[in-house]
Amino acid sequence: MSDLTSTRRFKRVVVKLSGEALQGSAPHGLDAVTLARIAADLAAAADAGHEIAVVVGGGNFFRGIKGAETGIERARADSIGMLATVMNGLALEQAVEGQGRQARCLSAVTMPSVCESFSRRAALHHLAKGRVVIAAGGTGNPFFTTDTGAVLRAAELSADAVLKATQVDGVYTADPKRDPTPETWR
Ligand code: UDP
Repeated sequence: MSDLTSTRRFKRVVVKLSGEALQGSAPHGLDAVTLARIAADLAAAADAGHEIAVVVGGGNFFRGIKGAETGIERARADSIGMLATVMNGLALEQAVEGQGRQARCLSAVTMPSVCESFSRRAALHHLAKGRVVIAAGGTGNPFFTTDTGAVLRAAELSADAVLKATQVDGVYTADPKRDPTPETWR
């Protein structure tokens, strides 16, 4: 994130934050210290003049594909997954505001009593106001992931870059957890 704060090359940035990035060393769920650290980075980037839209995952709580393996119909399991991303979005909204920066969680799955619904117009409005936008609910459709959601949001918001914050440190030709040899790393 320090590269992000040190350059103005990327005015509008979509950050893809996996749910697992929010769980710290916990086996699942949210870790308050980790949330605060990430929120501080996001707030610092916004303070430096960048427009930050975060697309948040939900894998620290639930993934549709895993739910389907236990017998939940896939589309329904994906709905549970999308709800998980909203839980993370709300927690991140709170954490960013805890850093003194306004944030708005906008969900692709409409739930107006909980947060605003995602629309391009609303997201651009909040970005222009200097608020960190947190796009939850992925694409709003089953059979997708929040990686797709990040690219979709970046395209519709005309972002200059998509940054993916995840637990892996490069691009691999094999799953590094199954094949830890360095040759798999690029
Ligand atoms: N999901 C979905 N449609 C989307 C984005 C997400 O159905 O457009 C569901 C899907 O079940 C997915 C879960 O939400 O497994 C959590 O998202 P993701 O797996 O991308 O989270 P991450 O791995 O980034 O934490």
